[in-house]
Amino acid sequence: MRLVILGPPGAGKGTQAARLAAHYGIPAVSTGDIFRANISEGTPLGVQVKEILDSGGYVSDEITNAMVRDRLAQDDAEPGFLLDGYPRTKAQVEELDAMLAEQGHALDVVAELTVDRDEIVGRLLKRAATDGRTDDTEDVIRKRQQIYADETAPLVEIYRERALLVAVDGLGEVADVTDRLVAAIDARH
Ligand code: ADP
Repeated sequence: MRLVILGPPGAGKGTQAARLAAHYGIPAVSTGDIFRANISEGTPLGVQVKEILDSGGYVSDEITNAMVRDRLAQDDAEPGFLLDGYPRTKAQVEELDAMLAEQGHALDVVAELTVDRDEIVGRLLKRAATDGRTDDTEDVIRKRQQIYADETAPLVEIYRERALLVAVDGLGEVADVTDRLVAAIDARH
């Protein structure tokens, strides 16, 4: 099973990605988590990307693609994986296509998690209070939403045209959203 979960900042992708990965027995590969782990460990990559994450911008395609390529080459990703936070740009879509083609694989489903904007800002501000993420201030949240709309929302259409897309309402109890995602993914797979 090779899955992508797409959705705006605050849609609950990370939470659902972990639950879906457990359900399907595949690793969840979250680019945001990998960047944040590198930042907290002070690796050269972390030093390079810290300011970008704090400002709400996207890390360059070159850096991000190389990081994902390394991660997907690990043994645990051989039977499948769930990508959370990647691809985020058209260039990343093309790179992912190339990586999969080299392995003789293809994506099975792209799940889009939809949530309305007002709900999202509230959730992110709550997360700022509990998780202490430095990119969860109101200004940076707005910037991340704008960049998502400009750079990442167009990916929904790309995957819809490929008949890979399922859209699922991200509002409601965490477990209910997971059930909806599993039902939609299984219906498509
Ligand atoms: P959210 O979905 O809430 O914005 P993420 O944890 O997915 O949070 O991403 C946090 C940050 O990590 C992004 O704002 C961006 O700076 C960086 N990032 C994550 N994935 C990518 C990617 N595929 N391309 C470029 N930057 C990325």
